[in-house]
Amino acid sequence: MIEYCLIPSRRKTLAIQITPQGELVVRCPIGMEKERIEAFLREKMEWIMEKQAEARKRSEAFSQALQPGGSVPYLGGKLEVAFYGERIPIRYLQTLYLPQSNPVDGFFLWRSQEARALLLPMVTEWSIRTRCYPLDISFGNAAGRWGSMNQQGFLRLNNALVQLPLEQIQYVIVHELCHMLFMDHSADFHRVVRFFLPEADRIRKEMSRGLPPFIPQ
Ligand SMILES: [Zn+2]
Repeated sequence: MIEYCLIPSRRKTLAIQITPQGELVVRCPIGMEKERIEAFLREKMEWIMEKQAEARKRSEAFSQALQPGGSVPYLGGKLEVAFYGERIPIRYLQTLYLPQSNPVDGFFLWRSQEARALLLPMVTEWSIRTRCYPLDISFGNAAGRWGSMNQQGFLRLNNALVQLPLEQIQYVIVHELCHMLFMDHSADFHRVVRFFLPEADRIRKEMSRGLPPFIPQ
């Protein structure tokens, strides 16, 4: 049997997840027998192996990108990576200086700071224009979603947005703010988004065609 991390939880079914580092995490109902869990895993083995291989490849490419001579995506372009002796990551012009002692943590620290510095003023500006004022804004790293808005008006943005071109970032912000008017993706919703961003349809199409991959954590 392959290695996996088991998390018993209050749920009715088994769920498997591959972490960005390629580890297998299994969530199971409390008290479920090991035999049943492993039979389930054997059934899904092909899928698991494939996803693990993909995740490991991405994770390796990621640590290579964070070496001198590597690069990271930024506003639709690229920043060169360089090392230096300090602990605080700094971007200067087109170079991202990461602490040699820990480039990975340095990168995530930089990206969360950059996301706040870049996105908060954009959200403020678009809140004024759309008159949709989120109650709260939070930032995260979870892969899979650029942003989300819930019914209570809590806006969540992904730090990885800083890798997109500005017009795509703008689209994500306007899209999420407009969810304060329509919680769905109805024709009315898209009409409102288009009202604020006449290029919305083109941008959305370009985004769905060639989304840059989320950088694994
Ligand atoms: Zn949406």
